[in-house]
Order: sequence, then structure tokens, then C-alpha cells
Amino acid sequence: QRARQLALAGEPATSLDGTSVVVAANLGSVADARAAVAAGADGAGLVRTEFLFLDRSSAPGVEEQHDEYVAIAETMAGRRITLRTLDVGGDKPLSYLPMPREANPFLGQRGIRLSLEHRDLLRDQMAAICRTAREFPTSVMIPMVSTPGEMVEARQVLLEAAGPAGLPEALHIGTMIEVPSAALKIEAFLPYVDFVSIGTNDLTQYTLAAERGNGAVTALFDALDPGVLQLIDHVCRAARGRIDVAVCGEAASDELAIPVLVGLGVRELSVSPSAVPRVKAAVRELDVARCAALAREALTMAGADDVRKLVLAMLSGAG
Ligand code: PEP
Ligand code: MG
Repeated sequence: QRARQLALAGEPATSLDGTSVVVAANLGSVADARAAVAAGADGAGLVRTEFLFLDRSSAPGVEEQHDEYVAIAETMAGRRITLRTLDVGGDKPLSYLPMPREANPFLGQRGIRLSLEHRDLLRDQMAAICRTAREFPTSVMIPMVSTPGEMVEARQVLLEAAGPAGLPEALHIGTMIEVPSAALKIEAFLPYVDFVSIGTNDLTQYTLAAERGNGAVTALFDALDPGVLQLIDHVCRAARGRIDVAVCGEAASDELAIPVLVGLGVRELSVSPSAVPRVKAAVRELDVARCAALAREALTMAGADDVRKLVLAMLSGAG
């Protein structure tokens, strides 16, 4: 089965009723990019740039970052790469960035909040991203955004970093949707974004108040909880016909979540490189009209377990 999936991996993922879903890869290194291409990824939907910043005594300069982004872009051979700006915080400290000690780092200075406090660092990263975008199809994505004002500020820094040439024409600018307030206020974000990518790992954590990775609350932590799905639905409805919606959290490679996400209107799934062939195969088995009906029903359910049962029933032909 894996061999058949791999043979088809380079082909687009098109559902039984003809809907195409982009299946991209999440990357944290140039080696991941090689794995993504071998697995047939349509692009890189999330490049976690943290790998360039961790385990060192000073921040990488513009030149060094640009070289790494170019190495990834060259490996992706013309496919679009989505570079996420630095997403660190109290849970992932950096020795050269003074960070407050926080009792609740997941509710503290993370992602864009920290980047806006250290604008020189953000400006350097934006400069490296702009240079890359003048040479390769590139998107930039901002993590942990909770209010449109943060996107306005991030865009200001991007514009400063772009210099006299202005923003690269082919650069797409997007925000991650990881905080419930951002999902609920999606309309207010639309003037400032070309796309959004839903980070279901953090969105699930913040919606259910269940810390990701905390073993005591794993039963609660499920992106198929209808509360999370209602937020995703809200985003997809506002975005329809205006901007693209991707999902780049773990849910994107969960075979029971994929029919629901596609049914809600998600048209890009970004997953770990090794999952790409399996996710493409799962999309090819779907009837999107049926998924849409399934998703409507999922939104009305009480819990993630009910949703999983519903999807299982459909996939096994009983639904
Ligand atoms: C997410 O939160 O779903 C996400 C993709 O970002 P990360 O896992 O890097 O926090
Ligand atoms: Mg996240």
C-alpha cells in the first residue's frame, strides 16, 4: 500500500468528485526539504525557522538566514515555501534573547508578541525573507497572532525590511490562526492577509484550555472537538472566495480529521514529510460533497469522540 502511495506521490491530490487539495510539508531543516520532495509534497506549508535560532549564542544574521532559506527553496525546486517568522517564547528560550520568567509561558510572550519586542531581530528575519522572495516563490507567515494590530505592525516591519525596492511582488503574507480570538475576528484580518494557516496544535490548546503535551489532559486535547471545528468553520466561511485557508497542525495528517477539514473548506493540508503520500491517498478517496454534509453534522456534536465515530462510519461506508 505504501509503495502504491509513493508511486502516486508526485501527482496532485484530487478527490473522487474532482476537488484538488494541496498537500504540502512542514519543514524544520534542509534535510526535511529533501524528504518532502521525495515524498511528493506540493510545497512547504510551514517552515519552522526556529531551527536556525536555537542552540547558539547569538542570532543568525541576514546573510546566514538568507542562505538557509535559499537552500530550502532550491531543494523545493520551484514549489512555494512558507517561511514562518520566529516562534519562540518562555517554553523555548534563547540564550541571547532576554525573556521574562513566566508562570504560564503559553499565555505569555510567545511568537509575534516576542518578535515585536525585539524588532531588530524581526527586521533582520524579514529582510532575509524578502531577499528570498525576490528569487523564489515565497510566503511569510506570522505565528501566535491574536489581534489584527499585530499583523499591521508585522507588515510595517516587513515594509521597512524590504527597503527601497518595496515588497517583493510575489511575496504572499499570511497569519497563523492559533488563538481563538484570531479565528473569531477573521473578518478584521482579511485586509492584511493573502492567506491564513490554521495551527490546530495551538488552536486546540487554547480553545480547550488543555496544554499540548501535558499527559494529564490528553483526553481533552483533540482538534476534532466541535468547539475547535466551529472556529475552523467560522474562518473558512469568512475566507471563502477571498483568501486560501490551510491547516498546518497535526490534525492535517489525522485520517479522521481530513474529511472534516476538507468538508469545512480547507484546501491545503501541510503535514510532516513522511505523511505526505498517506494524506494524498486519503484525499483521493474522498467525496467532498459528502464531506461537507459530514462536517455540518460534526459541528452539532457534543465531543470529539462523537465526531470520530461519525467519520469512521462514513469511511467504512456505513455513513
Ligand atoms: C500549531 O500550533 O498547530 C503549529 C503548526 O505550530 P507549532 O506546532 O509549531 O506550534
Ligand atoms: Mg503553534
